[in-house]
Amino acid sequence: MSDGSLRLCVLASGSRGNASVVEVRSGDGPRQILLIDLGLSPRRLQQSLHARGISLSEVRCALITHFDRDHFHTAWASRDLPFPLLVREEHETWAFQCGADARTIRTFAGSVQPVPGVRVSSSLEFHDEMGVCALRLDTRSGDSMAYCTDLGSITSDLVDLCHEVRVLAIESNYCPRMQEASARPAFLKRRIMGPAGHLSNEQAARACDLIEPRDHVVLLHLSQDCNRPALARAAHEGRPYRVTVSSQHEPTDWISPRTNTHVPA
Ligand SMILES: [Zn+2]
Repeated sequence: MSDGSLRLCVLASGSRGNASVVEVRSGDGPRQILLIDLGLSPRRLQQSLHARGISLSEVRCALITHFDRDHFHTAWASRDLPFPLLVREEHETWAFQCGADARTIRTFAGSVQPVPGVRVSSSLEFHDEMGVCALRLDTRSGDSMAYCTDLGSITSDLVDLCHEVRVLAIESNYCPRMQEASARPAFLKRRIMGPAGHLSNEQAARACDLIEPRDHVVLLHLSQDCNRPALARAAHEGRPYRVTVSSQHEPTDWISPRTNTHVPA
């Protein structure tokens, strides 16, 4: 693929830590590695990358969706990072407050080119007070993927950003019945199920109906207590795309747009 192909591996996703890796290949040049979120400890992230034959020195940057601890592990703040943190400009102060080294922070507004041949577009979505950055990556050859987690609501900005993306990684946090039945305090249930909380399985499926992902959907950030992989997957039954359910403890396979297109479900 001369103009850039993408593939995604979700290393971990859930309230105990989120990190994903995107590999970009173009022409005969070396592959380029981007990370999305640094919610695992440096040790665990490096182990997980090594298991996939990736060294930290190959990482060109980390895109940070927001600075909740499960997306930016505090241990990264005190380290000399060998790569920049790409941060939405609205989150710059939050990054400082979390101890991120000012020398490593690169802010961006709507879009940014993190490595040659890849354009990242973004939108700021509802999540708690500070919001969350939804991301879309495009290459010149037409590969595309989007990564949207910790979303309170499905907005028209989000649908426009992700529309007809080849690979869509999107949060599918909870089953409403399990959430209601859980022993969690009422205020927490309200926050999670509210418009600045997290997406339910049904909301994630509804978002996919609007976004119309072309090849593959990766479900992110399943609640350990209030969801099950089979329930999250069942919400997408009969849809024309493949579905992968990410987990807190096991990385997904590499997911690439084209190679999976013709594999029967
Ligand atoms: Zn989170």
